[in-house]
This record gives sequence, C-alpha cells and structure tokens, in this order.
Amino acid sequence: MSFHRTSQRILAVSAAALVAVAGILPVVPAQAATGARPPFKVSFPQETQVTRFSNDWGSRRSGGRRHGGNDLMAPKMAQVYAFADGVVEAVATSQRGGRYIVIEHGDGWSSTYIHLNNDNPGTDDGDAPWSLTVAPTIEEGAVVKAGQLIGWVGDSGNAEWTGSHTHFELAIDGRGINPHSLLEEAWERDQDRYIRQVLLALHDEKLMSTV
Ligand SMILES: [Zn+2]
Repeated sequence: MSFHRTSQRILAVSAAALVAVAGILPVVPAQAATGARPPFKVSFPQETQVTRFSNDWGSRRSGGRRHGGNDLMAPKMAQVYAFADGVVEAVATSQRGGRYIVIEHGDGWSSTYIHLNNDNPGTDDGDAPWSLTVAPTIEEGAVVKAGQLIGWVGDSGNAEWTGSHTHFELAIDGRGINPHSLLEEAWERDQDRYIRQVLLALHDEKLMSTV
C-alpha cells in the first residue's frame, strides 16, 4: 500500500518536472550574440546540474586585463567534458592558468579548459597526480568526442582564491570569442537530457519493483 502511494507520487513529480522543463526553455535565438556559430555539434563542457555561470566575458581583471572566457563555477572534481569532437592539442600547466587542456575542433575552432584540479582529495595541496586532473587517455593527440569526460574541476593557478571553477575559452583562428550564448544553448539542451535520464531511471525503478 505504501509502495503504491510512493510510485504515484514519483509519477506526479515526474510529470510536473517535465512540464517545468518544457516551460522554462526559452526560444533559442537563430544567431549567437557573436554571430559566430560552429559548424559542428556542441555539448555543455561541464556537469550541468552543479554548474553556475554568467556572461562574465570582458569583466575587468587585475593588471588591466579583461576576462577572456566564461567561468563555470562548480565544486571541485565536478566532471569537465569536451565541448565538441576534436583532437587534444595541449595538456599543460601555467602559472596563472594552472593545469589546463586545449582541444582543436577543426575549421579554426578551439576550446580551452583552465584551472583543472591539482589537489589531492580533501586537501588544497596543489600536489595531485595528473590522474586527478585529466581523464585516462587524455593526452596530446588524443581524439575526443563532444561530451566526453576529459578532466575535473579545480582551483589551480590563480583560481586558488576565487573558488573552484573552469575558465572556459572559445577561439576561432586563435581569436577569442564570447562563448556565453553557445554555452547557454548547450546548458539548456544537456540539462533537459539529464532530467529526462533521471526520470527514465525513476520509471525503470518503478517497473522493476512491480515485477
Ligand atoms: Zn575566468
């Protein structure tokens, strides 16, 4: 009896969630704000359900610099994904950026993922092995697919004092562009897919428990 009530509640929640998702999806603009649209499929480059981001492209930074990407705020060790199909161009480290990955997507497009994890679990020691920074097989020359796990969120480089996040950059022919509108579209699509997967899993669980 109590199971019956529970499954009914799950179905009600599922239906409500679907309606909510359908209701919050805005009309996707025909053109990104930059006018530049990649000729390939893109994925949101991080776990949607734990990521917060805003249009912080161009914000002032120390030393007269301007922000050249969007910061995807998330807890340490959240998953970072390839933005699109491509080839890993660099797995490297720099003082300001910390540990980072660059992927070439073809047609002059590239994406960069900066401040990846460099800490051992539960510490802020900056001394983690690279196996806690990038996923297995991610090295220069590796072929990756859109949405493939490539590494983990961290606070390496100058993110040490701003909270863990991925500084995500997009460039065409080496010239940086604001990735925000493309990220927003990808976030909405991937988050929608994530919710549908959760609902399907709930549905399967219900079917299994009635067998
Ligand atoms: Zn940044």
